[in-house]
Amino acid sequence: MTSDLLARRARVMGPNVPTFYDTPVHLVRGEGVWLWDADGRKYLDCYNNVAHVGHCHPHVVEAIARQAAVLNTHTRYLHETILDYSERLTATLSHDLDQMIMVCTGSEANDIALRMAQAVTGKTGIIATDNTYHGNTLATSQLSTRRPPIGGYPAHVRLVPAPDSVRPVGGTIEGQAQAFAEHIARAIAELEAEGCGFSGFMLCPSFANEGFPRLDPGFLDPAVEVIRKAGGLVLCDEVQPGFGRIGETFWGHDWMGFAPDVVTVGKPMANGHPVAAVIARPDVMAAFRTAFGYFNTFGGNPVSCAAAMATLDVIERESLQDNARAVGAYALDRLHRISHPLKAEARGTGLFFGIEFTHDDGSPATEFTREVVEYMRENGVLMNRIGREMNTLKMRPPLPFSKENADLAIDTLEAALQEVPYG
Ligand code: PMP
Repeated sequence: MTSDLLARRARVMGPNVPTFYDTPVHLVRGEGVWLWDADGRKYLDCYNNVAHVGHCHPHVVEAIARQAAVLNTHTRYLHETILDYSERLTATLSHDLDQMIMVCTGSEANDIALRMAQAVTGKTGIIATDNTYHGNTLATSQLSTRRPPIGGYPAHVRLVPAPDSVRPVGGTIEGQAQAFAEHIARAIAELEAEGCGFSGFMLCPSFANEGFPRLDPGFLDPAVEVIRKAGGLVLCDEVQPGFGRIGETFWGHDWMGFAPDVVTVGKPMANGHPVAAVIARPDVMAAFRTAFGYFNTFGGNPVSCAAAMATLDVIERESLQDNARAVGAYALDRLHRISHPLKAEARGTGLFFGIEFTHDDGSPATEFTREVVEYMRENGVLMNRIGREMNTLKMRPPLPFSKENADLAIDTLEAALQEVPYG
């Protein structure tokens, strides 16, 4: 069955279409934090940041069905849902982030954010970290470092070393923050010399794809100061940390304590329905709307807005941010107490946590981490790995994740660490 599906995918979708795990999972049903495959096998989902309030949450399902039965159409008619939702979402953001554009994917949102920086500054130079992912459009893929662009990185793109808590550049945490800011200052000078000028810096406040290094609030203050002084915009990609996942605050930038000029959101926003947005200050939005005509056929359609609105309802009604904080702290405490020769660091914030594994000589234990992930999948727990060398286990479950769920995941992880050879 799995091999049939893989063969059909290759035939009809072409080569290199990504799937997780040596034996990809063929899912047929989801409920809460649980998933079932075509053979009726049940898995604990520790990875899905899309099914944010739990798979097939009845309130979201009902909202989608109800709106789909009444009206769904493109976005050039008047409709209340986009206004109701935009007012409600922008109310969760401070720093005058009061206006938004709804789109369908995080990539589209980031693409617009890049153009907002261009519109405000009249420049094109853009900086990101050297180990990240911000999307699949042409512009965002030039900042996505898993596969370098054909022809190399364009002259207007500069990548600075990503923060790394296991191999820190700059010593103390303050030293690291300073070193990070200095790299940005150097990149800005290069862009100015190149003639592109500097439009902005795009970053995820949790550095999620970089391997979510352990950083303190305030870490980005020196970097933000450098960016502002150079007249660039801070483009904050909240696609992963946003909507309460990190527990402490609703948004990652509030936890880190800086004020972005633009925020982009996606994945968890409508519990699996393709909804994303870019949120900006009115002056930034005005510059963008003046410089670029923009419309998006599906972005903010009535059904998408109903799904997004219902997702916010559930986050609030079920106190899921509080749950993320409590269960995340519990899980991280258990991870801290795990002892294993290859464990370099357990880290995380809220329901976004994991362990980095390295060998005695400090080299990344990439293959070991891969085998742990495979063991977990074989034993009914879905999680994955991330980081420059893919040697950090990454758990990022739906927010209704309970302490019992965390215990099951970590008990299975402890068994994996016993079983998977590391010599
Ligand atoms: N930004 C970040 C930080 C992401 O992790 C991703 C997707 N993994 C994106 C943007 C792109 O989002 P999408 O796949 O919805 O286009």
